[in-house]
Amino acid sequence: MERVHKTSVGNVELVALQDTWLSPAVGDFFAEATPEALAPYRDLVSATDKLTVSITPWLLRSEGRTILVDTGMGGRTVAAALERPAALPEVLREAGVAPEAVDIVAFTHLHGDHVGWNTVDRQGRAVPLFPNARYVVQRAEWEYWAGGATGSEPNRATVLDPITAAGLWEFVEGESALTAEVVTVPTPGHTPGHVSVVVSSGGESALLIGDAAHSPIQVSEPEWCIGADVDKRLARQTRAALWARAEREGLLVGTNHFPFPGLGRVVSEDGVRRWEGVESVS
Ligand SMILES: [Zn+2]
Repeated sequence: MERVHKTSVGNVELVALQDTWLSPAVGDFFAEATPEALAPYRDLVSATDKLTVSITPWLLRSEGRTILVDTGMGGRTVAAALERPAALPEVLREAGVAPEAVDIVAFTHLHGDHVGWNTVDRQGRAVPLFPNARYVVQRAEWEYWAGGATGSEPNRATVLDPITAAGLWEFVEGESALTAEVVTVPTPGHTPGHVSVVVSSGGESALLIGDAAHSPIQVSEPEWCIGADVDKRLARQTRAALWARAEREGLLVGTNHFPFPGLGRVVSEDGVRRWEGVESVS
């Protein structure tokens, strides 16, 4: 099954990398998911009412820089809920990328499924998997977790502390340009310091939305939240604003959790927004 998906936006190469995937019951994700409410979305839910939730970090190549957006589940995860052991290092190799070649690791946020491969264990010690990278995170996100927040929290000892010890963190505030073509923009709600990534090059644009949404159903139902959305009111506002922008500007949209590769566009039909997945774009 495909787990590396390449596309381009102007001069920027965009690569979706599937770390692993899960198949949770739709009712565990969305309280609103009654049989009646789900009727229009049967194509997005299995016969046994399961969602397909991919864990998809993204690799971007821009202006000679290699940028990884989020690092997935990590190799220490108890595999019970995973459909396949998390495999980002292997998947990166398939994409032709050595960990040492990554210049920037940028985080949409610090939930456990976005920071897992920050480190690997060597001789019983957790060490940075990307030793030559700056690990870039919003200061508000860092402070939220430093304040002791719980709920899908990162394992601090194994995935945050070793990066601190190696002096690799870079804290940013507000909009932050990783290159002239790749800019992170605050889209809070799912977590306080959550960002999306705007890619603009050669007259083309794309938006990586991180965890502003977890299922294509939420393109049509932006009010639906998951339990892990920290501020649900703000998450709803942010989600609706992102869909409006994506539709208005005709943006290519990349997601962290939609069925792989999680790439598509937001379109409207009879006044109802929906997700239109694209397999590839030239
Ligand atoms: Zn996530």
